[in-house]
Amino acid sequence: MGDATSGGEDQHAGPPEPARPAQRPARLVLYAGCVFVVLGAAVLYLGYNGMATNELPPAQAPYLISGGLTGLALLLLGGMALFLYAVLQAQSDLRRDLRQIRGAVEDLAEGLAAATSPAPGSASANGTVMIARGARSYHRPECQLLERAQGVRPAAPDDAALAGLTPCRVCRP
Ligand SMILES: [Zn+2]
Repeated sequence: MGDATSGGEDQHAGPPEPARPAQRPARLVLYAGCVFVVLGAAVLYLGYNGMATNELPPAQAPYLISGGLTGLALLLLGGMALFLYAVLQAQSDLRRDLRQIRGAVEDLAEGLAAATSPAPGSASANGTVMIARGARSYHRPECQLLERAQGVRPAAPDDAALAGLTPCRVCRP
């Protein structure tokens, strides 16, 4: 068969698509399915042809029947291979869609994280700060020093600055 040795399939494939890992094996399955279907049809055709033209002596009936069964089996194999090809193709498309969705979700998560968690040094831009009762400094809400403080209340950073408090040297709000 010359089909197996034709390695130039990729040269006339046009502009290269983005990488699809399942494409090459899927194509092999497609070729195998076509070959099986054609072979099965040919065997069936030859079998029926032989039955129609010959007088069908009883001694040859087993051969014709087995030939027909072989043709049917080849057709079945080809059909299964074509079905497998369709499944592989759908799976490849699904995988690509999933990759895109995952990328979009990651982008979304990064955007959310950037929007909600304060960047170092810019916490007082929009977030609240925490003030302990009697303290002279204000903190980020997650500051370690607040764990031992009492009477902690949130405040807007502008209020804390107006109250004459200084930013904590540990968390640097
Ligand atoms: Zn602090």
